[in-house]
Amino acid sequence: MSTMAQRDWKYALAPVWPHFTELQISRGKGSFLFDREGNPYLDFTSGIGVTNTGHCHPRIVQAIQAQAEKLLHGQATILYHEPMQELVKELRTVIPDPLDCFFLTNSGSEAVESALKLARHATGRTNVTCFQGGYHGRTIGAMSVTTAKTVYRLHYQPLMPGVAVAPYPRRKEDVPYCLEELERLLVTQTAPSETAAMIVEPILGEGGYIVPPAGFLPELRRICDEHGILLILDEIQSGFGRTGQFFAFEHEPMIPDICIMAKGLASGLPLSGIAAPREVMERWVTGSHGGTYGGNPLACAAAAETIRVLKEESLPERAATLGKELIASLNRCKDSGEIHEVRGRGLMVGCEFRDTRQKPDRDRAAKVRLACLQQGLILLTCGTYDHVIRWIPPLTVSQSELSQALTVFESALMDVDP
Ligand code: PMP
Repeated sequence: MSTMAQRDWKYALAPVWPHFTELQISRGKGSFLFDREGNPYLDFTSGIGVTNTGHCHPRIVQAIQAQAEKLLHGQATILYHEPMQELVKELRTVIPDPLDCFFLTNSGSEAVESALKLARHATGRTNVTCFQGGYHGRTIGAMSVTTAKTVYRLHYQPLMPGVAVAPYPRRKEDVPYCLEELERLLVTQTAPSETAAMIVEPILGEGGYIVPPAGFLPELRRICDEHGILLILDEIQSGFGRTGQFFAFEHEPMIPDICIMAKGLASGLPLSGIAAPREVMERWVTGSHGGTYGGNPLACAAAAETIRVLKEESLPERAATLGKELIASLNRCKDSGEIHEVRGRGLMVGCEFRDTRQKPDRDRAAKVRLACLQQGLILLTCGTYDHVIRWIPPLTVSQSELSQALTVFESALMDVDP
């Protein structure tokens, strides 16, 4: 106890948490975080794609405060409550038919777990196919379908059995090969009659901000339909306006069987969930899944107001417009020979660094990220080799904040020797 007291309080935090900055933050407002001395930092991580409405949006804070005075906990199997009713009503305005039925949880991983469990019940099959480079979370099921990096899986074996991994296309010319491999998996590794679901990110997030070529997701839809396999889309990072539509799948003519949501859903309160057609949800035997906190009133109130704010402030449209400008500006930095590729959709944008031998350049991405941090701009990396700097500012970000961030980034590129 005494040794503990003598040490920095951070010693009491499990080292399993990596720390990408040493910042101690007291408050956040819009696109900014402020440390204890009041120094501002431009937060272009949005807490990993969570604060799409900016930090502490006044309307959302107000909705949380109002709800906090009324009811903090309302267990979903014991009672119904108003914030959940409001949230379901709002979700129905932004999620297309037939995804008209919802199950609510607390974290992204928990929602992924729920989707996998639902798929097993709904189909009576066990296996799941996932895609190379995908990230779905840290619980055993979610981790078993995660292939973004081995560090997420190492020493956690045995993982969930029955998982097959299909390739994910980066470019148009990869699509025929990827689809052929997927069809081959269904003949060589996991027969359709034992395959409950395919789970895929509509844009690879942790795996490196890779947008699949147009037509890939509709083809997955077609293959799943052909074999009675459920298609699960993990919209945890790409949802709630981030890519310029409410959900990334809306860029294509397709609708999943199960849509997984979290992060941007409640602007920072822990809330996640899955949407599926009522007819699919009815196959999930009552009582066979659940949880104490899913659909917490405070989180639901925050989420209902988040959806209203996203709609009323036209934040998906803002993401589409500003994203195009951001990609154009970053491409100008690319032209100066610093960056291998700029890609993304809406305000989900990645800059990939490669060295002169075209190998992923983790070191350079890390140095540029740190140089930005020193100048008050918080960015994160992603990608299997941590060689992609991702731009995920709040969708409320102003033009001038964007230019400020770009100026910092450009100077960091120049300061860091290739
Ligand atoms: N799926 C995707 C696409 C994600 O980006 C994440 C989080 N980065 C998760 C699942 C897991 O969510 P959580 O960390 O809330 O469990």
